[in-house]
Amino acid sequence: MGTNPYAWLDNSLAALHRAHRYRTVAAVEGMAGAVVQRQGQTLINFASNDYLGLASDPRLAEAAIAAIQTYGTGSTGSRLLSGHRELHGELERAIAALKGTEDAIVFSSGYLANMGAIAALVGSPDLILGDEYNHSSLKAGGKVSGATTLDYRHSDVAHLEELLETHRDRHRRCLIATDSVFSMDGDLCPLAEILNVAEAYHAMVLVDEAHGTGVFGTSGSGAVEHLGCTGRPLVTVGTLSKALGSLGGYVAGSVSLIDFLRNRAPGWIYTTGLSPADTAAALAAVQIVQQEAWRREVLWHQVNHLIQQIDQNLAKLAEVPLRRLPSASPIISLEGRSAEAVLMASERLQSAGLWVAAVRPPTVPTSRLRITVMATHKPNHLHQLVTGLQTLIQG
Ligand SMILES: *Cc1c(COP(=O)(O)O)cnc(C)c1O
Repeated sequence: MGTNPYAWLDNSLAALHRAHRYRTVAAVEGMAGAVVQRQGQTLINFASNDYLGLASDPRLAEAAIAAIQTYGTGSTGSRLLSGHRELHGELERAIAALKGTEDAIVFSSGYLANMGAIAALVGSPDLILGDEYNHSSLKAGGKVSGATTLDYRHSDVAHLEELLETHRDRHRRCLIATDSVFSMDGDLCPLAEILNVAEAYHAMVLVDEAHGTGVFGTSGSGAVEHLGCTGRPLVTVGTLSKALGSLGGYVAGSVSLIDFLRNRAPGWIYTTGLSPADTAAALAAVQIVQQEAWRREVLWHQVNHLIQQIDQNLAKLAEVPLRRLPSASPIISLEGRSAEAVLMASERLQSAGLWVAAVRPPTVPTSRLRITVMATHKPNHLHQLVTGLQTLIQG
């Protein structure tokens, strides 16, 4: 036996290297946007979640600066003690209005909103049924809650119903949890069907709109609106950090739900209130989402155009090294043969000035290139991506 109790760390890192799963950070220099500088290289950015291009919008920056000048940089305490500002209330009312719910509550991140809400809503006598492709934060919430947690096959409502039939009676409360837009595949959950079975089995439904908010729905409310489920009994969670270009998370729902979370969610009670800058930036973003529908129109036009271009090019080949997963969102995933293959593909695209993320297990079951489209991409950015992909698949 060695004497260093941390020696296993190096062995573990070596194993990651061998499996092509080792990961590092690379700094983006300067402003966020559709084109960024990274390590001295100019890259067209297909790797961000800033779908509407709001992270670099001067109106968000102005709102954040004004909030810092008014309130300072930190909110100095938890919301129930010294950390509450009127700005938080304004943002929460704006989110509730966007979502068509009675109330909302903001958390320090989307990750914490999921963990906090789930752990508050269910405990050891209860049951959580989650989509197998759910985001890590939903799974983490299940673990922290102590509830019995079972996964149903991806978007498979018949399997969900089977699990309800077998297990529901043995538990006190039941929570069904799902991403609305799956973060790595870009497809949508069958929310209306899920709500129908939930009703039949007396179960609550938590839906994670991280990639839906600002992107889906006529008013930009999210995939819940797009799927015709606004007003149904839901616990809606989301983030301020994707289309809203800021940082933080939220839960939206009934007055009782939000009131309960303010009293019973440790992940909200025992953490410092969202910073004034993040709060103000998110509030400005919610207003822009509601006022500038053209951003969504441009975004969807680009998404549909890109999907069509990719499919045309892939269809020309008998044996394709990349398979497009059935996306229905600005997240377009191209599944590759191995972690190594998608890493190489991503590197080749990078040398052509295109930043496309290689996403590998354990984040996803199969390795893929994950392309995200922005409203602020220019037609020539998309054209260059298609050319880059063409070069890749032709070997
Ligand atoms: C990004 C993401 C989160 C976490 O949100 P943060 O605000 O970044 O912590 C939660 N759920 C899903 C589906 C996500 O994609």
